[in-house]
Amino acid sequence: MSMVFALAGNQNSGKTTLFNALTGSNQHVGNFPGVTVEKKMGTLKRHKDMSVVDLPGIYSLSPYTSEEVVTRDFILNENPDGILNIVDATNIERNLYLSLQLMELGKPMVIALNMMDEVRASGNTIHVKQLSELLGIPVVPISASKNEGISELVDQLIATAEQKKVPEHLDFCTGEVHKAIHSIAHIIEDQAAACHCPARFAATKLVEGDEPTQKMLEVTPEQEHIIEHVVRNMEEHLGTDREAALADMRYSYIEKVCSQCVIKKQETKEQQRSEKIDRLLTHRILAIPIFLLIMLTVFWLTFSVLGGPLQDLLDQGIGWVTDWLDGWMSSIGVADVLHSLIINGVCAGVGSVLSFLPIIVILFFFLSLLEDSGYMARVAFVMDKLLRKLGLSGRSFVPMLIGFGCSVPAIMATRTLSSNRDRKMTIILTPFMSCSAKLPIYGMITAAFFPQQGALVMIGLYILGIIVAIVSALILKNTLYKGNPVPFVMELPAYRMPAAKSVLLHMWEKAKDFIHRAFTIIFLASIVIWFLQSLDWSLRLVQDSSNSMLASIGGLIAPVFKPLGFSDWRASTALITGFTAKESVVSTLTVLTGAAGDLELSTALSTIFTSQAAALSFLTFTILYMPCVAAFAASKRELGSLKSAIEAAAFQTGMAYVTAILVYFVANLFL
Ligand code: GDP
Ligand code: MG
Repeated sequence: MSMVFALAGNQNSGKTTLFNALTGSNQHVGNFPGVTVEKKMGTLKRHKDMSVVDLPGIYSLSPYTSEEVVTRDFILNENPDGILNIVDATNIERNLYLSLQLMELGKPMVIALNMMDEVRASGNTIHVKQLSELLGIPVVPISASKNEGISELVDQLIATAEQKKVPEHLDFCTGEVHKAIHSIAHIIEDQAAACHCPARFAATKLVEGDEPTQKMLEVTPEQEHIIEHVVRNMEEHLGTDREAALADMRYSYIEKVCSQCVIKKQETKEQQRSEKIDRLLTHRILAIPIFLLIMLTVFWLTFSVLGGPLQDLLDQGIGWVTDWLDGWMSSIGVADVLHSLIINGVCAGVGSVLSFLPIIVILFFFLSLLEDSGYMARVAFVMDKLLRKLGLSGRSFVPMLIGFGCSVPAIMATRTLSSNRDRKMTIILTPFMSCSAKLPIYGMITAAFFPQQGALVMIGLYILGIIVAIVSALILKNTLYKGNPVPFVMELPAYRMPAAKSVLLHMWEKAKDFIHRAFTIIFLASIVIWFLQSLDWSLRLVQDSSNSMLASIGGLIAPVFKPLGFSDWRASTALITGFTAKESVVSTLTVLTGAAGDLELSTALSTIFTSQAAALSFLTFTILYMPCVAAFAASKRELGSLKSAIEAAAFQTGMAYVTAILVYFVANLFL
């Protein structure tokens, strides 16, 4: 690589959109703060020797959130050749706050002034040339989503980096702050030079009392003493604390700059429209009912109106393929064992899962509409007050909503939470949200046991997951995770029309992922299950699978589930295979009942679960017990240790067990 550029900017300023425009890649864009949590690298479209790194959105360079740490570490330690700072022109004052800090890093830097289309449409003006002169760095107006100004931006960026042109003026401080920064810069000048850190940046950080910088510079106790003295002095003179003093300094500089080059007649159309919509959607009383209504509509459309019929269609298709394969193998005389393996093992297992593809794709279609339009961010805001009672903040709502899709990205999304306590609690609670892989299980069991009330039972299961999460939050809040959630700060993005490309892309990714799992994990699991249930310990084919190896393994743990109402070995085996991927529960049950066709399957299932209550209890346990191996790995990574991940899984499984007993008990009273 001849050059590497760091792409930094506030959350939701369009970084990922720009990254995609620059590199031609298809990273996920969402109208939602905190979509990008990991840095991503890509090469420039027309300059294959140069690359950009999409960094998580940040508001400052203080290491408070893990996003700030990722971004700051990258810029400071990996020494990119230039910084591409993206600024949302519709929110220029707040966005420039980060720009001023980035400028202190003394690296070649270019500002991409994004969303100029919205600024223009509202009749506002920004004098770009003057802005560039006042800031002392190149500024290029662009519209990332409309692909405007991108090539000018690239040219400017490369030229600036090649000339190693660093920001011209840094000294935007005045008065007491100026004195403090400069005298500290003087004190630590040599140490800063030794670790290639710009003295001005180091000094500003030391004024803030930033620990990583103190460590990096190896500040001596005497120096620390002097610095503290200087800063105290500054605080006394200004009558504010150090952080406020620095913020003041930056904002007054920004104000000065903007008053000269930003002509703002009115808020942009998007902002005006957003205010109107928000009056309804974040209404003090109506907000939550509206949210529930929207979610119910989404589920109703997904399961009954659109998904159901499509699923039946796909089911038929799979049936035809299976029948055709069956007939063909009979006609050429394939050995019985292989024949059975392919039809009763692979086709039954993979097919039972694959038929849920339409439902899952449609669910993701709606979720990404909600996300891209900017509504999800409002929901987090509205939910904050309720979540606070549970010891969580509105921020935690984001991962939980993503959890309805899949726990793995949901657990990763907890990185946007700044407090460790909030994060850990959220990671433990997120898997209680019904992820899309659990859908096939609900579908299968409700079709067999509640053919009339399917939708009702399904919605009930989603709600049950939420209730258990609430109860768990209360338990955790009063035991392991005492303390208060951090205050909720999240910027509400303007409502935007979801981009068709981004929504379709999201759906395609999910579909691909689901199909991939069906033909890898589920495929293998089906084969293994078929073998284990067809052979006994001396590896002879058995007539009755209850004499098989699997029966004796499953039989060992089956008694554990007796209080829950299902002690058949096939149920416990399905739960074990569910650890590889939740859909495995469905393929395993299908293979084990050796059934083809809906009617047979439901009769066969009724030999495993002897009552509706037992079926409900099984469903309850499946929603709540420990997540699949992928989610477990994610929680191990995010919680930081295997031990914590095991503890979390044990807690979840314990909750599952207790809740399932309760459900079984109550269901027995009524059914
Ligand atoms: P990030 O959080 O900084 O990565 O921002 P994203 O790239 O995910 O974009 C946030 C939102 O802004 C998305 O809804 C984009 O479609 C939208 N967006 C990005 N660039 C532009 C632009 O130039 N004009 C307009 N109107 N919208 C944009
Ligand atoms: Mg992003």
